[in-house]
Amino acid sequence: MLIGGLQKFSLINYPKKTSALIFTQGCGFLCQYCHNPELVLKKRFQPPIDEDTVLTFLKKRQNQLDAVVISGGEPTLQKDLIPFIKKIKDLNFLIKLDTNGIHPKIIKNLLDENLLDYIAMDIKAPLDKYKLITQLDLGLNLIEESINLIMSSNIDYEFRTTLVKNLHEIEDIEKMGLLIKGAKKYFLQSFVPKVTLNPDLSSSKAFSDEEMEDMRKTALKYVKNCFIR
Ligand code: SF4
Repeated sequence: MLIGGLQKFSLINYPKKTSALIFTQGCGFLCQYCHNPELVLKKRFQPPIDEDTVLTFLKKRQNQLDAVVISGGEPTLQKDLIPFIKKIKDLNFLIKLDTNGIHPKIIKNLLDENLLDYIAMDIKAPLDKYKLITQLDLGLNLIEESINLIMSSNIDYEFRTTLVKNLHEIEDIEKMGLLIKGAKKYFLQSFVPKVTLNPDLSSSKAFSDEEMEDMRKTALKYVKNCFIR
């Protein structure tokens, strides 16, 4: 495991549970608005945190934390993700995976082995704009496959989209809504200008509260619940 960060406590990253967060290094996408270039660009990686250090910390928190969130970067790129999660599950933590959906096979294996309790997948854009946002020409069937796996799983899940003015348009919500039609939970997050992979975006304007609310209402035509985060 290439672990680039450990956040020892959070009240907001696993619904209604306390959690610790593990951030893996490496992504595969190069989202223009990414706030974590140190987890995405190899040349900016810090020396990884030893896996045993993380497990020793978690053992000490067994009775104080409910869950562990595995985030990134993109965790499903890690070759030993499955054995690593098994070790954390053996400590009786709930597991949430944050993913961009690029590796449906890994998601399937994790679901088949009952290693996940919650999964959050990013929907970057309508499929025809994925390349613009992620700067990667990937097989878009992979994204659809991950969406289908998650929606037909028996665990709790959410989809989420960070919306960036000049990259997203209000009309994109219709297409993304169709992509996850029937989903239980969809979160819309307004982009906050700060450190970004594409420095040109760091001064970009965010959508207004009214625009976000319009998009939420549009999304509700397709999903069961939609929230602004
Ligand atoms: S925002 Fe994009 S580039 Fe950054 S970690 Fe997430 S998927 Fe990777």
